[in-house]
Amino acid sequence: MLGAELIWNGGIVFNPAGGTHHGLESRANGFCYLNDPVLAIFRLLDLGLERIVYIDIDAHHCDGVEAAFHGSSMVRIISIHEARRWPFTGLLEDDAGGAAWNLPVDRGLNDDEFQAILEGMILPVTKAFHPQAIILQCGADAVTEDPLSRLALSNNAHWRAVSSLQHLTPRFLILGGGGYNPWSVGRLWSGVWATLNGYEIPSHLTEEQQSILNALSWNRKTGRDRPTHWATTLRDPSNPGPIREELKSDIQKLRTRNSL
Ligand SMILES: [Zn+2]
Repeated sequence: MLGAELIWNGGIVFNPAGGTHHGLESRANGFCYLNDPVLAIFRLLDLGLERIVYIDIDAHHCDGVEAAFHGSSMVRIISIHEARRWPFTGLLEDDAGGAAWNLPVDRGLNDDEFQAILEGMILPVTKAFHPQAIILQCGADAVTEDPLSRLALSNNAHWRAVSSLQHLTPRFLILGGGGYNPWSVGRLWSGVWATLNGYEIPSHLTEEQQSILNALSWNRKTGRDRPTHWATTLRDPSNPGPIREELKSDIQKLRTRNSL
C-alpha cells in the first residue's frame, strides 16, 4: 500500500520483499500471509486509477491476485508460470472473467522463448491497455538455478522485462516475489536496481562485492559446491534456445481470443 502511495504522483518503487501473490482474502497461502500486490492495486483504484496492468513472471501462478480481480475491467493480469506446478491454477483457458491472460509454460523455458513471450504478449497487451500504472512481480524462482521450479531462464530475461516495461507507464511498482537460491535472488534483484537506475551491470564484481556473495550460505549441496560466477558477476550467461511450437501456438490462441 505504501508502494502504491509513493508512485501515486508518478515514479518507480522497487520492493524486493513484496510480491506475496498467493495470499487469499481470508487465509494465508503458499508462504504468503498478506497479498501485498492486491493491497497495492486496491489502493491505486481507491486513489482513482482506472487502468492497471499487473504482470507476474514468477514461476508460480498468481492465484491470490487473480481471485481478487476476477471479472475486473480496470485490472489486467498477465501471468507466465510453469505448467503443472503448484498451485495448479492459471490454465490457458482460464481468463478470470476477462481480466487475465494466463500462459502456463513447459519446463526448460529459455531466454529466447521468454523474449517471444515479452514481444508477442506482455508488451502488446500492456500497451493496448494504456496503463496508468504497471505492477511487475519479478519472481527470481523462474531462473535455472532455483530449486522450486524447472524453468531455465537467466536473469537477463527479468532485466529485459524491467527495462522494456519501465517506459510504458508513469507509475511503475516492482515487487520481488519468489526465489529460493540466495545467490540467484541477490544477483537478480541487484540487477533490477541497476536497470531501473540506468547503471550498467558490471562484468566483474569487486573483492568487497564478492565477499558479500561469498558470505551467503544455503542448506543445499549446490550451495557448498557452487559455480564461480555466482560470486564474481551479477549477470548469468544467457540461455538461448529454440522457441517451441506449443508455446507459439499458445501465445497465438490468447491473442486470437482477445482479438489482439
Ligand atoms: Zn514462485
